[in-house]
Amino acid sequence: MSSHASVPALVPRRPARLLTQNREMRAIGVWNWTLPAWAGRFPDGRTYNTCPSAGICRDVCYARHGTYTWPTVKAKHQANLRFVLDDLPGWEEAMTAELGRRKFRGTWVRIHDSGDFLSDPYLRAWLRIIRARPETNFYAYTKEVARFRALVEPDPPDNFLWVYSFGGAQDALLDIERDRVADVFPDEEAIAAAGWHSQEASDLLAVLGPRLVGIPANRIPHFLKRLGGRTFRSWQTEVDAERHAHGRRRGGLRLMDGATSLRPSASPGSSQVPAAKRHGRAA
Ligand code: SF4
Repeated sequence: MSSHASVPALVPRRPARLLTQNREMRAIGVWNWTLPAWAGRFPDGRTYNTCPSAGICRDVCYARHGTYTWPTVKAKHQANLRFVLDDLPGWEEAMTAELGRRKFRGTWVRIHDSGDFLSDPYLRAWLRIIRARPETNFYAYTKEVARFRALVEPDPPDNFLWVYSFGGAQDALLDIERDRVADVFPDEEAIAAAGWHSQEASDLLAVLGPRLVGIPANRIPHFLKRLGGRTFRSWQTEVDAERHAHGRRRGGLRLMDGATSLRPSASPGSSQVPAAKRHGRAA
């Protein structure tokens, strides 16, 4: 087979339309831009991760379940991502042009039904698009807290609202006294008991309603079992604490190992190099 035979698979197939609507979003007049969720592999073998700051959410991710995994749906979402990764300026131009259509005036666009702001250049491209289309409103959930603190918070576009969502690797950067935040709860009763505010009636409440946003968990039995009555925030806190404790234990073991290896060698003439260094590890 000629080496050229593999080229067509590497050429991104440009989606004809970038923004879509499902029934739920159509009911509230919102359009969607979607990437595939979390980590995956393109048919050409390249790997990707659209949610670099995902935490426990990836284990119960709604977008890694059901219709999202159907081959045609997944192929469409991967085509969107390939366009972004392979030709960011071309994608920005196409998105800006599509949003110029009359039907998007006065409407809302949810950036990422699934996926997240995966890089600084991609987020910057979105900020330029949002500024170029002031007649349209945009919103997003994100776990890219540090990226938003640096690139969005100092000078956000007037027509862009966002909510930080718990369950990610950057949860510790969130301040529930100040930030607009969303957390997933086992059910509506748990949201009310915590004094948070459900967005179940309309997804737009996540950015237009009160600042502490409660999302009832999807009724997917094995996801509910994993959630185990916790919120994403409390589950992530548990995982972070376990990781921290594990790191401390490992650090303690390394110290003990280093202390042992620093004992003088028992046999004259044997190496005085600490054992840890002999094994190529930091002492
Ligand atoms: S950030 Fe969202 S889309 Fe990504 S893995 Fe988590 S829940 Fe899924």
